[in-house]
Amino acid sequence: MKPVGPIPAGYETIGGELAIGGKRASELAAEAGRTPLFVYSRAHLDARVADLRAALPRRVGLNFAVKANPHLAVIGHMAPLVDGFDIASSGELALCTAVGIDPARISFAGPGKRDDELEAAIAVGVTLNCESEGEAARALAIGQRLGKAPRIAIRVNPSFEMKGSGMKMGGGAKQFGVDAERVPALARDVITQGAEWRGLHIFSGSQTLSADAIIEAQGNVLELAANLADDIGYGLPKLNMGGGLGIPYFPGDEPVDLAKVGAALAERAAHLPSVLSDTELCIELGRYLVGEAGVYLTRVIDRKISHGVTYLITDGGLHHQLAASGNFGTVVRRNYPSAIATRYAMEATEEVNIVGCLCTPLDRLADAAMMPQADVGDLVAVFCAGAYGATASPSAFLGHGPAAEILV
Ligand SMILES: *Cc1c(COP(=O)(O)O)cnc(C)c1O
Repeated sequence: MKPVGPIPAGYETIGGELAIGGKRASELAAEAGRTPLFVYSRAHLDARVADLRAALPRRVGLNFAVKANPHLAVIGHMAPLVDGFDIASSGELALCTAVGIDPARISFAGPGKRDDELEAAIAVGVTLNCESEGEAARALAIGQRLGKAPRIAIRVNPSFEMKGSGMKMGGGAKQFGVDAERVPALARDVITQGAEWRGLHIFSGSQTLSADAIIEAQGNVLELAANLADDIGYGLPKLNMGGGLGIPYFPGDEPVDLAKVGAALAERAAHLPSVLSDTELCIELGRYLVGEAGVYLTRVIDRKISHGVTYLITDGGLHHQLAASGNFGTVVRRNYPSAIATRYAMEATEEVNIVGCLCTPLDRLADAAMMPQADVGDLVAVFCAGAYGATASPSAFLGHGPAAEILV
């Protein structure tokens, strides 16, 4: 028997079934008209933002990293809740503008921005988090051609990285950002050449559950930003401090102590070095905002026994849930939180392997998990599916197509 990860708080049972947004899983599947489907919960999104607002100091803004969940209805729901939107492509820019988000609230990071993407962003006044000297030069040239001063911030490749980070995105040689020691010269250069100077973006890690690691990284970010601002000789209109807050996916994972992070940040924000005293601060979060708000529902198509092992074979799989299958940057596969949604209130009485419908042994959703006895037609729920699910999985693989997505 292998345990499954912790089911996020806030999900209820109605009529013995898992319910999301007041509706039973079977109702949601019927409403969507098909399975598999992703269900995103407004109540969870609202609650998460409210928790963050309560914990964070007022002067620290909250950005949503759109790549975690670019579903149009989700972006639209987040629009009035957060302060800014971090995008990573012109495709994400189009989604944000489609729901009426003011481009002045959007910043665009990502290595390898094409000229047409820079142009689309500059034309509407999106802030570019420039990742290299070459990109800054292209942005300035495009701005000149358009007769529009590009809004430029510089993404810094810091020399430190967040401890315990699930994905390393700072420290040493990286394709992200400009090495810290080269930032002052570049900043002065873009300012001299007429860019609208927007400050710095320092992202040092992702998926961290340790409050201490986050607090330490935020201290390092503020210190580096102050040193760079001193060197540059201009203040920073804005500092995007990165994010890094993770969510529990696996057995034994504990949620981030948000109150502790917020209190430490409030203390620092109240005692900023004078060079940052007028700087607008923000953090940027993806999975922490949306991950626990999503549930993936997939139907049991077959139940079979092989050499004494019971398999529940579903109509979903790694083509929608690459991360839950254990194939998205994990070394040892562990079970995501999962359940039989249509028998949510029942006792777990049998050990099963829950798999997807793809012709590859990589397509596993839960290994040797204790579940209530389920049969063909039952629905399986995989939790923590609100971030890096639908769009971070190879939905074209084997031709089953994308899952449905609904916001309730
Ligand atoms: C991906 C990304 C994020 C979001 O990371 P999460 O782990 O989802 O919070 C934030 N900022 C940048 C620059 C990113 O690339």
